[in-house]
Amino acid sequence: MKSNAKASAMTDNRQFCEESLEALTRTQLEELQWTRLQKTLERVAHSPFYGGRFREWGLNSSGFQGLDDLSRLPFTTKKDLRSAYPYGFLCTPKDKLVRLHVSSGTTGQATAIFYTQKDVENWANLLARSMYMTGARPGDTFQNLTGYGLFTGGLGFHYGAERLGLLTIPAGAGNSKRQIQLMQDFSTSVIHIIPSYALLLMPIMMEMGVDPRRELNLRIGFVGAEPYSEEVRRRIEDFYGMRVYNSYGLSEMNGPGVAFECPCQQGMHLWEDFYLVEIIDPQTLEPVPPGSYGEMVLTSLTREAMPLLRYRTKDLTRILPGECPCGRVHRRLDRMQGRSDDMFIIKGVNIFPVQVEQVLMNIPEVGNNYQILLRNENNIDDMIVRVEVTDRVFVEDMRRLQTLQKKIARDLRGELLVTPQVELVEPHSLPKNEGKAVRLVDERKQ
Ligand code: AMP
Ligand code: ZN
Repeated sequence: MKSNAKASAMTDNRQFCEESLEALTRTQLEELQWTRLQKTLERVAHSPFYGGRFREWGLNSSGFQGLDDLSRLPFTTKKDLRSAYPYGFLCTPKDKLVRLHVSSGTTGQATAIFYTQKDVENWANLLARSMYMTGARPGDTFQNLTGYGLFTGGLGFHYGAERLGLLTIPAGAGNSKRQIQLMQDFSTSVIHIIPSYALLLMPIMMEMGVDPRRELNLRIGFVGAEPYSEEVRRRIEDFYGMRVYNSYGLSEMNGPGVAFECPCQQGMHLWEDFYLVEIIDPQTLEPVPPGSYGEMVLTSLTREAMPLLRYRTKDLTRILPGECPCGRVHRRLDRMQGRSDDMFIIKGVNIFPVQVEQVLMNIPEVGNNYQILLRNENNIDDMIVRVEVTDRVFVEDMRRLQTLQKKIARDLRGELLVTPQVELVEPHSLPKNEGKAVRLVDERKQ
């Protein structure tokens, strides 16, 4: 039996959680942004880092006349955060802090992010708004399958779901059989999961003989925290029988809830009442032409403990042109191509791991896990793509496997313009990760 919540799946795209903040005009939005930016500029002057910089640059908050003046400020980088670790960006006394998270540190030393009570509340509201937008409602059971603890995906979604009034199961990451059991026992209808874990959970469900389309009550999946392709979205939607909404965030800006997809599934609305967005060319640092890809730069507009000005996220995306049919004024971000640090160069060609994924996940014989290995032997770079095949393919004869191997290599060449070596490996044999997946192993750097 499907629950009543299933009936509300046909959510009207134009139902707003916070109408006054989602359905305002651009002029009203910009007025709000300017008011909030002025407060933020006053606040940052209290932090050792920005206070010092403002003195160095001869600036104070009253020297700014409008939103455009922000571009007079230099960017803030991860390196700055590290150099001022742990308290250099703090704008409030320590006794006003209620929470600390650290970024997952996949690209070097972690950084500490602090929250006041108000920051935690604002963050919960943003996630409640995001989840509501997709049709989640009281009466839904929400299972959070991401790590609790220092990673923001756990507690961030947890507080947001409770704020919205969902029955919230803090399942955490891993322990897959128990996850499936919880989904069955409590008719879980909404989940939050990272894409690589959603893929890894599929064979475990099949092994347990659970057909999610028939036996589970899933209808909405919030999937994010790492890059994934449209092909992976389709695989997850088809298998679980739910709609998948892309969710983007980073610890430096609270965590998840920075940008989120609406039911139109045409890009993620960036919550512009909380964040100012710029897209720059990472080389020249100049703004890119409207609609072009570049590095996203964010300024927080409401954070109290640790506001950041013009923070270079290293995430590559673009602002989608045009308005969203749902009527929200907040502009939409395209799917992230990846982080500029994830891009690798092989034989003179720049490649993002997600481009490899896009090709592989279009081939039905390819399983749900893969790994890209870069090697250098005798001064020649090699790219090896290890691909798990599905159980069914694995028992097939050698000739068919060779044909599959050639097809994968050909399709990858079509997308990447580089011909990698393709190794087909047994199902479930590649390393698994409960947190964000590590798709790329670059042995050239060792
Ligand atoms: P952390 O602060 O450690 O949780 O990591 C944040 C980073 O995860 C972002 O800067 C992105 O690189 C990545 N990320 C988060 N959500 C997404 C998403 N929906 N698509 C692609 N990358 C994402
Ligand atoms: Zn929309």
